[in-house]
Amino acid sequence: MNILIINSGSSSIKYQLLEMPSAKIICLGSIERIGSKEAISSYKTDHVKIEKIYEIKDHKAGLKRITSLLLDSEKGVIKSTDDIDAIGHRVVHGGSSYTKTTLINEEVKNKIKNLSPLAPLHNPANLEGILMAEEIFDTSKQFVVFDTAFHGTIPVKAKQYAIPGELYKEKGIQAYGFHGTSHKYVSEKAIEYLKLKKSKLISIHLGNGCSITAIKDGKSLDHSMGFAPSNGLVMGTRSGDIDHSIIFYMVDTLGYSIDDVKELLNKQSGMLGLTGYNDLRDIESEASKGNNECIIALEMNAYRIKKYIGAYTAIMNGLDAIIFTAGIGENSSLMRQLVCKDMNYFNIHLDDAKNDLRSSTIREINTENSKVNILVIPTNEELEIAKQVYNLIA
Ligand code: ADP
Repeated sequence: MNILIINSGSSSIKYQLLEMPSAKIICLGSIERIGSKEAISSYKTDHVKIEKIYEIKDHKAGLKRITSLLLDSEKGVIKSTDDIDAIGHRVVHGGSSYTKTTLINEEVKNKIKNLSPLAPLHNPANLEGILMAEEIFDTSKQFVVFDTAFHGTIPVKAKQYAIPGELYKEKGIQAYGFHGTSHKYVSEKAIEYLKLKKSKLISIHLGNGCSITAIKDGKSLDHSMGFAPSNGLVMGTRSGDIDHSIIFYMVDTLGYSIDDVKELLNKQSGMLGLTGYNDLRDIESEASKGNNECIIALEMNAYRIKKYIGAYTAIMNGLDAIIFTAGIGENSSLMRQLVCKDMNYFNIHLDDAKNDLRSSTIREINTENSKVNILVIPTNEELEIAKQVYNLIA
């Protein structure tokens, strides 16, 4: 069965076509900078690798471009759009209504639309991707997998904010949690790898967006992002945890508009705001040359992760393993080292030599005597979505 995964973002569409249940990747690619004259289209199969710059006006044009690559008589991988059996769409916010992979119908689309104010950067683009795919792949079944779904098990005491109760009960103000597909995928891999029957895990997803989840017996118990994907860890351009009085002070006293503050906290803060760079590779390279701002930013980033590890170990009353995943988690041995340093009280002991080894598969980087396993697990959100869609159909 051929399942196409579509991850439609505000200015990009990432896609992957998988043969299920073998999980063979038939092709993958992305269109980035949609809306610009210099959008980048990339496409890769076993035999072909193409990267080109085009003008791509909108998501519809982007998806048409992808379809023409898939159907291309020389470089393509399918003969007709009917060869796509199902499409799995990643949607960021499913509110509290959807905790499972769901077949798309009018009600689901309306719900995604109604949840747009809670994820303004993501849900409208996700919905656009669904509408376009329905038009182009009109014989394929369409499903949606929500980033929030895995966190449906977070108990009320962890997800409700200490503000008047009606805002939770009537207006849906609560912590929802994000990166759920990734946290689910890597935690299941860890349980399988460590052969655990009962498990207390902390999964640390460090990419452009960063989040951390306490996972007990396969269920999300608490998570660092909240109502929107902005709380918690220091991210590429997002501040993470911040005292809300700062927002009022900036508006009331410093003269910022509320839109300025929103922009500043989401797009100009985090590692970018601290250092002028948002790619961790640049920050590490600058730090190694003695750039003090970069050294401090790396320390702040690791310090925040450590605090969450402490908190989540406390709420689970124990810890079997911590998992590092996504761009930074999988690739930055320095960040892993800063996080795991001086954690012997928790019985977390990093093996520096193993930490420095690079690999694209699951690996254990703790010392022999470490009671807590430290794992690096490459995330694969597309495969997780394909698995969920396949299981639902099969
Ligand atoms: P996204 O959230 O966009 O999916 P990724 O998971 O791809 O992000 O992570 C992107 C980030 O990973 C980059 O911004 C970069 O900081 C970091 N990264 C990638 N490779 C390395 C590396 N070798 N060393 C340090 N950081 C890296």
